[in-house]
Amino acid sequence: MGRASRRIGPLGTVCSVNDLPTLTLASGRDKKIRGRYPWVQRGELVGGPTPKNGSVARLLDNEGRFLSVGTYNGASRFPFRVYSLEDEPLDQEFFARRFRQSFALREKLVSDTDSKRVLFAEADGVPGLIVDDYAGHLVVQVRTLGGEKLRDQWLPAMLEVFVPKSIYEKSDMQGREEEGLDMVARPLFGDCPPVVRMQESGLLLDVPVAEGLKTGGYLDQRNSRRLLAAQVKPGDKVLDCFCYTGGFALAASRAGAIAYGVDIHPVAVATARSNAVLNKLEVPFVEANAFDFLTDEAPSLGKFDWIVLDPPAIAKDKAKRDSLKWAIWKLVCRALPVLAPGGRLVVCNCSYQLPLAETIDVCRLAANDVGKPLFLEGVTYQDLDHPAPVTFPESLYLKCVWLRSD
Ligand code: SAH
Repeated sequence: MGRASRRIGPLGTVCSVNDLPTLTLASGRDKKIRGRYPWVQRGELVGGPTPKNGSVARLLDNEGRFLSVGTYNGASRFPFRVYSLEDEPLDQEFFARRFRQSFALREKLVSDTDSKRVLFAEADGVPGLIVDDYAGHLVVQVRTLGGEKLRDQWLPAMLEVFVPKSIYEKSDMQGREEEGLDMVARPLFGDCPPVVRMQESGLLLDVPVAEGLKTGGYLDQRNSRRLLAAQVKPGDKVLDCFCYTGGFALAASRAGAIAYGVDIHPVAVATARSNAVLNKLEVPFVEANAFDFLTDEAPSLGKFDWIVLDPPAIAKDKAKRDSLKWAIWKLVCRALPVLAPGGRLVVCNCSYQLPLAETIDVCRLAANDVGKPLFLEGVTYQDLDHPAPVTFPESLYLKCVWLRSD
């Protein structure tokens, strides 16, 4: 069990996998770990002293055989997170290898843009670490204590492999508190511009890294924005609800549609407006609550050929699933009266907690309640630079349901 391995890391750290504390997995739980599921829940660990929170540890099966190297945090819902199924040190070399793999994958999967998600945490074998590359400027999110403690290993690897112009850290998501971490937003390397200009499908888009949401942009909707642009006909009227910096509306406008956008976030709306100017497009962007806009203002604009509903992830946990269902139901109920006959409705749901079948079911309920039949024309998911291993169902979070009204 466990080959001896001692390496001097480039930072001078001595990493020995044999010194690692061990944890034991309850019997019958090892198959999913071997199948690359990255999370071990509290009840799945048995006996023994627990390591210090944030430390690197080795996971053994019930018979004492090596399963994985990962990080431990007893305060987390997932106290052990799998980094590797090999008995290897989690040093700079390890991270550099992972980053090279994830980078090579994106080279194959992403085109017609200078920006992509280069690292999608567990789905790329690096738990808790998300990295978006906006035109060479990286934005990093660290979601776990284990990831935080390994900073001196992954940060130099990031510089080595991605050779970024700058790195900004935007670790201000809710999950950090559960991990016992503070919210941080700060430059990590180089000259970090607060707004980065990127390109996507022929559009120039400013990304408000410092003042915007998440890492600054929503690269996950790239494929759906393209699909909308490919489907609209010149002169079609498009309403982009929850437009953020204007992605769907601008893509549709560039394809010849008459587009409008609505968002509640002042920085998002200001950026959407300047993005329209940047691309010489005329798209009115309104700062409003999309729920109210649909009933109060949209009717005066006439009927829409396309309505995109892309609300935020209201359901971060199971308990909030009903709130998200209710929100989607309400949005669809309010959108249907302003949808033209034969018009298309795109209902997006970025919460893993509400799966595709239930999202479609909420649309069914709303269609029934409004008395307007809807036909399912297709489904899109997060774009391919946000990989979704089927053995890790939680990685598939974004589903967009494309519907046509009668
Ligand atoms: N469609 C966008 C991403 C949307 S993210 C894109 O392709 O880039 C979700 C957006 O919903 C955020 O911009 C957030 O500001 C906005 N939002 C949240 N609550 C809202 C509300 N009640 N009304 C309008 N916008 C809202």
